[in-house]
Amino acid sequence: MKGGGPKIYEVIIIGGGPAGMTAGLYTTRSRLHTLLIESGIFGGQMPTTDLIENYPGFPQGVTGYELTRLMEEQAKRFGLETVNQETVEVRLDRDLKVVKTYESEYLCEALIICTGTEYRKLGVPGEKELTGKGVSFCSTCDGAFFQDRHVVVVGGGDSALTEALFLTKFVKELTLIHRRDALRATKIYQERAQAHPKIKFLWNSVVQEIKGDKEVRSVLVKNVKTGEVKELETDGAFIFVGISPKTEFLKGLIQTDEAGYILTNTNCETSVKGIFAAGDCRKQLLRQITTAVGDGSTAAFAVEKYLEGKE
Ligand code: NAP
Repeated sequence: MKGGGPKIYEVIIIGGGPAGMTAGLYTTRSRLHTLLIESGIFGGQMPTTDLIENYPGFPQGVTGYELTRLMEEQAKRFGLETVNQETVEVRLDRDLKVVKTYESEYLCEALIICTGTEYRKLGVPGEKELTGKGVSFCSTCDGAFFQDRHVVVVGGGDSALTEALFLTKFVKELTLIHRRDALRATKIYQERAQAHPKIKFLWNSVVQEIKGDKEVRSVLVKNVKTGEVKELETDGAFIFVGISPKTEFLKGLIQTDEAGYILTNTNCETSVKGIFAAGDCRKQLLRQITTAVGDGSTAAFAVEKYLEGKE
């Protein structure tokens, strides 16, 4: 920290998922005065994941909640400061970066953006109105409400399949609705879902509307090959049709692709000197916890080199 005037952090990290927590662990161990700003709970998408089987070191898998707890404890062990606020804007003030939240403004020399992604919406009638009344984007949060009932899961990626498999603990039957006749998900999830007696598949189909009043009653499904529209009775609709980056607040400041993913080089440096990006919000081939923690450590090391170069 530099003396006089408002507090200037050497590093600010926006986002407390696996990338942000790892970046904080590394910068504080390098004795850089660091603030991590998180708008919700720590862990990003981890705490809403039932069992994580592809993070090394846990041969039997680890719950998302437990992995979050362990990472958070480790990240804070070396003096990481944290605030629970939502970032609304980042701007430059000569060599410094200004991070504006609803409550305050913070200054730093180097900034690491680790804001991750959020679930994409279908954008069909009924989805917004019935969210929380049977429409859900999180099976670990809402699955238990559907004990012995029927639900639909929309999507064909890793999220749709892992969440569907988790929901089988509760539901009587589940229909997975996918717009093609081939799944995108990792093969092991495909094999498990296809072998599961509670999971039925509705191929080449898209949801056109979610119907209900106080709660979900049915979905209107269109077969994209034949054009036929059917009404399928159901108690819940879980939507997992992909993700979009949470980078809206950076608009115009740094380069992104058309979808909003931040463009970086392999050192996690963005188009603006002193601003780095790590984890799912960055344009990259694979988005996993393993890649997020790798990015977090790379970005922290690159920040250290950047700050040394400034001195
Ligand atoms: P995703 O891989 O982008 O899959 C989205 C799925 O939704 C695709 O099957 C896509 O169909 C379908 N879709 C997209 N828009 C749609 C629409 N408007 N209507 C109907 N269907 C639509 O997204 P994700 O499954 O959320 O996964 C995101 C990232 O997280 C991935 O990198 C994934 O590997 C990772 N992830 C990993 C794990 C794990 O390893 N355990 C678990 C969860 C997520 P098409 O296939 O036709 O495009």
